[in-house]
Amino acid sequence: MPLYDRNNIFARILRGEAPCTKVYEDEFALAFNDIRPKARVHVLAIPKGEYVSLIDFSQSAPPETVAGFWRAVTKVAEQLGVADGYRVSSNVGPGGGQVVFHFHVHILSGPRT
Ligand code: 5GP
Repeated sequence: MPLYDRNNIFARILRGEAPCTKVYEDEFALAFNDIRPKARVHVLAIPKGEYVSLIDFSQSAPPETVAGFWRAVTKVAEQLGVADGYRVSSNVGPGGGQVVFHFHVHILSGPRT
């Protein structure tokens, strides 16, 4: 597993050093529109701690952090009005298509664009 790079783009967004279109935030998660949407709704949700990937998050984060994050994901879907139909995915590692090494999930709804 690569070491966490504090200069990755999502870390910079969390620190307010790079812009995003925020759709949801609580103590566990920040969610914002993907800059290159692949569906009518395409939001990224990220935890506030420094986790490289789903594996790192699942293995290293405290249980309340894990629970809080996944609850936030469902709140994002509710807030976006897509709670009746959406999909969640996470690319893990370069072989899985992960490009940004701050754990994130894609929340997508509607036809793929
Ligand atoms: P990955 O392939 O790592 O799972 O997905 C990274 C996602 O981050 C991609 O869908 C990409 O469009 C998105 N992304 C990359 N850079 C930025 C950025 O600066 N702002 C936002 N909002 N999304 C980004």
